[in-house]
Amino acid sequence: MYAVRLWSVRHARALHRAYEFFSRFAPYFAPLARAVGERRAAALLRPVEKAAKQLLFDCRMCGQCVLSATGMACPMNCAKEMRNGPCGGVRPDGNCEVKPEMRCTWVEATAGTKLIAPDHRAHPTPLLPAIDVRKHGSSTWLQVVHGRPDPAFQPPVESRQVAAPDIGSFEKACRSGSFVVTVEVAPPDSADPAALVAQAAKFRGLVDAINITDGAGGNCHMSSVAASAILAAHDYTPVYQIACRDRNRIAIQGDILGAAALGVKNILCLTGDDVSQGDHPQAKPVFDLDAVSLLHVARGMCDRGTYASGRKLETPPDLFIGATANPFVPPFADRVANLEKKIVAGARFIQTQFCFDLQLFEDFMKEVRRRELHRRAHIIVGVGTLGNAKALRWMGAHVPGVHVPEVLLARIGRAANQTDEGKRACIETIRALATIEGVAGVHVMGHRNEHILAEIIAEACPRTLAE
Ligand code: SF4
Repeated sequence: MYAVRLWSVRHARALHRAYEFFSRFAPYFAPLARAVGERRAAALLRPVEKAAKQLLFDCRMCGQCVLSATGMACPMNCAKEMRNGPCGGVRPDGNCEVKPEMRCTWVEATAGTKLIAPDHRAHPTPLLPAIDVRKHGSSTWLQVVHGRPDPAFQPPVESRQVAAPDIGSFEKACRSGSFVVTVEVAPPDSADPAALVAQAAKFRGLVDAINITDGAGGNCHMSSVAASAILAAHDYTPVYQIACRDRNRIAIQGDILGAAALGVKNILCLTGDDVSQGDHPQAKPVFDLDAVSLLHVARGMCDRGTYASGRKLETPPDLFIGATANPFVPPFADRVANLEKKIVAGARFIQTQFCFDLQLFEDFMKEVRRRELHRRAHIIVGVGTLGNAKALRWMGAHVPGVHVPEVLLARIGRAANQTDEGKRACIETIRALATIEGVAGVHVMGHRNEHILAEIIAEACPRTLAE
């Protein structure tokens, strides 16, 4: 079955033509389908569609087929059911983060799309809405016969609802054009907020905002929404990270409203790491939304003042909404298209994965500038250190989506003081990034190395900042 699926992607152009032929002539059968009756037509067509699509595409009959927009690679075969492009955890060989024995579905989708449309990068695949579970098992072919192929692509979001927005300090800093600095803090394994506040205090006066991770690596900690609210109450500027892994759209929208009510003004939408690497590998991942559909839902709440269902909010939240990007893993050439989708869906700032490879990042930024994406979103580049070469090597090998070049590992590994050398390399990276057109700032990360991160920020970005 898997081999046939790969064959279908290799023959995406021919299959796409066959689908175009079918969708042109299928509506002629609509009167017949109506005469037979909708239910009977579905009962006749469904088993044929299921058998054909299962054989060719490992189809799950989601009822919202998008094969022709995804290079004939079914996104339901993605381990996180991503509908809008690859996650940030694709392995260096192009295999899946969650199922390493399988090619990443989106690497396949990119290959298939190239066959269908050689200029595909100029026309990225449209935004696809989150899956509607009520349609599972229904026939997409019948929708084509009736001339109403699903899904309807999402319309662009409208402009900000809140009349005189009390723009938060992080958004102000981004808009000011100064080199912004954010830092990542993992919430504690504690019901006492003191440890979190003490961690944040190390960065007072040094950063524009503090990102609060949401079960990073699939590990359980204090909730990101609670930790963000605690920091907001202590006069810090949190960026509340929301992972789609652990909550469905009902819970996430409730949390977004709750966070806004508690003074949080910035959110970062991400899909989330797989659970298998965390401390609860037995947990059931949710992935009801992907990062792109979450962005669209969040912008809809802020800009249209509605839930995803369309129901009106009494008071919409007013949030500065961001997303992540990973220019350092395959499919490299299509990472910018994925970034563009996130910006179209509503991201106004972007924070990247760790940048240890400046050349890869410069290649990415060339294409970002060519598409003028840096004018539509503030691009903040992930940097950091873990203190020594052994820890960095472990991260490169075990943390999905982190690429650490051998040359950097060798440099830090042969240093007499590896912590100092890691710090120096990070400061050099920050200074180099500051010269790249389109870079709005840096996002400093380094688990359990807060004091080193504070030293790096103080040395590389010596300014009086908003925090
Ligand atoms: S690497 Fe990510 S995007 Fe690719 S198939 Fe696996 S989960 Fe899906």
